[in-house]
Amino acid sequence: MYYVEKTIEISAAHNLMLSYESKCEALHGHNWEIKVYCKARTLNQDGMVTDFTQINRIVKDAFDHKYINEVMDINPSAENMARWICDRVDNCYKVSVQESKGNIAVYERD
Ligand SMILES: [Zn+2]
Repeated sequence: MYYVEKTIEISAAHNLMLSYESKCEALHGHNWEIKVYCKARTLNQDGMVTDFTQINRIVKDAFDHKYINEVMDINPSAENMARWICDRVDNCYKVSVQESKGNIAVYERD
């Protein structure tokens, strides 16, 4: 199995829609650190699992300097962002989204 891992930093804003009172319901921003993990049994014709540039473009185009609530049609939690990214990157099996230092959500495909 071949693996690639790409780390991407973005700045973006969101506000969460929650079933309980929280300061996170107010509009606020983070400097997110996102790690995208891909794997493949065989390499593509270019000798790659997934091009790092393609991973970077998908994540940056979607989220960098954006209001994430306008990007996703579900609550823009770190968990939902991780799933959203994993669904769009070729050969992706896991994404971790660090919202702030020590606060990390991970989505891993079964
Ligand atoms: Zn937040």
